[in-house]
Amino acid sequence: SELALKDPTLHRDLCRIGGKWIAADSGETVSVLNPATGAEIGTVPYGRAVEARRAVEAAEASLPAWRSLLAKERSRLLRRWFDLVIDNQEDLARLLTAEQGKPYREALAEVVSGAQFIEWFAEEARRAYGETIPAPARDRRVVVIKQPVGVCAAITPWNFPNTIITRKAAAALAAGCTMVIRPATETPYSALALAELASRAGIPDGVLNVVTGDAHEMGLELTTNPVVRKLSFTGSTRVGRILMRQSSSTVKKLALELGGNAPFIVFDDADVEAAVEGAVASKFRNTGQACVGANRFYVHDAVYDEFARKLAERVRALKVGDGTDPETTVGPLIGAEAVGKVEEHIFDAVEKGARVLVGGRRHEFGGSFFEPTVLTDVPRDAMVSREETFGPLAPLFRFSDEAELVEAANDTEYGLAAYVYSRDIGRVWRIAEAIETGMVGINVGLMANEAVPFGGIKESGVGREGSHYGIEDYLEVKYICMGGL
Ligand code: ADP
Repeated sequence: SELALKDPTLHRDLCRIGGKWIAADSGETVSVLNPATGAEIGTVPYGRAVEARRAVEAAEASLPAWRSLLAKERSRLLRRWFDLVIDNQEDLARLLTAEQGKPYREALAEVVSGAQFIEWFAEEARRAYGETIPAPARDRRVVVIKQPVGVCAAITPWNFPNTIITRKAAAALAAGCTMVIRPATETPYSALALAELASRAGIPDGVLNVVTGDAHEMGLELTTNPVVRKLSFTGSTRVGRILMRQSSSTVKKLALELGGNAPFIVFDDADVEAAVEGAVASKFRNTGQACVGANRFYVHDAVYDEFARKLAERVRALKVGDGTDPETTVGPLIGAEAVGKVEEHIFDAVEKGARVLVGGRRHEFGGSFFEPTVLTDVPRDAMVSREETFGPLAPLFRFSDEAELVEAANDTEYGLAAYVYSRDIGRVWRIAEAIETGMVGINVGLMANEAVPFGGIKESGVGREGSHYGIEDYLEVKYICMGGL
């Protein structure tokens, strides 16, 4: 095929339910397109509620045996899954670049980082410790045990189609839960390949199911089916609200990783070169399509011109192109709608007085390619200060007063990530504590990995993924009171 996989059987194009590869009952399919070329890579079933329900039944049927394995046994199976992902990283990265568009090097980095979540949770599986609590009565003893939540569902987006799945699924499986995953329609192949490798690793049929198809119908089934005890969703705040509302009928546990509007703050005492490097990594990785990516740049008046000039230089050197070209550092956006949003934010800012320093237009390659863009003198009332662009646009705002800066940075309903560049230790602590986000990077532009708690506050979401907190989210606490002693 066009993908030139070493192992073409990793390119699965059917739903994975109860250990079987199956088409939709209706026979309907949907095309998966390569965003760089617009060409069809293949199709997947366009499933409906019935396929989602069947996958939930499969997850339910496999739960008792999976839950009853020794933690050590689940750990070994996860470890084998990790090994297979690592062994097949090149094919997985090829699939990822083809369906998502990111440069091959970034795809490979994502696959390896996704694998590290599996490795991490293989280790955490053995550490789901309970607790004993000194009892408040002489004839009683108090014990707390941890048990798997049960059948879980995951609804995932297209921007990190490998990592976002492994950090949910590996945590769930480590805890003893079984899962139904509904990946984004744009990027189903990464999810299906992961399911294939899980099966080869010996993870039993039905423990990990993947269904593709109608977002609304499947979402409704997964949120209202009483067998599903937890939903983990990554995507927009708009859809997160819908799923939260739908989940209320069965009072599901929820993990929501939603939108962000990360401020990237550069103080006058910052290492400007380091800040520029961090800014490029945080803003232009994945063509700006990351919920933790910097959305608003607040730069101190004293270093504003220097930062703008150096950032512009670096951004001009970025290479837009097809992700399979080794020279490419910025791939296409996922589609036409995404391009429209970047254009709208630029148009709005310029209309209100901003200047285009670099880029600003659709790229000459056409399709969903867009020029990496830097805007200066962006006014506070510009759309980009409130809305997530999700594209290669860095808008620079000017500040001089720390208190006003904190107020501006927190003036958003989002609270996912923030980045601060400063060498003043007092200031660093002041800002890190005052900023209303779940994650703060000091003098770094990238900070997510398997060992740390990823997640947001305010309307950016609920729960944490990765780290020991990540497995806790898939465990219930049971208090056992022993009396009559
Ligand atoms: P993004 O902007 O990242 O595409 P979305 O929230 O639109 O974010 O999509 C995230 C995931 O949620 C995708 O898999 C999408 O198909 C799915 N989705 C969109 N609408 C719904 C819905 N009403 N119910 C369930 N899932 C949905």
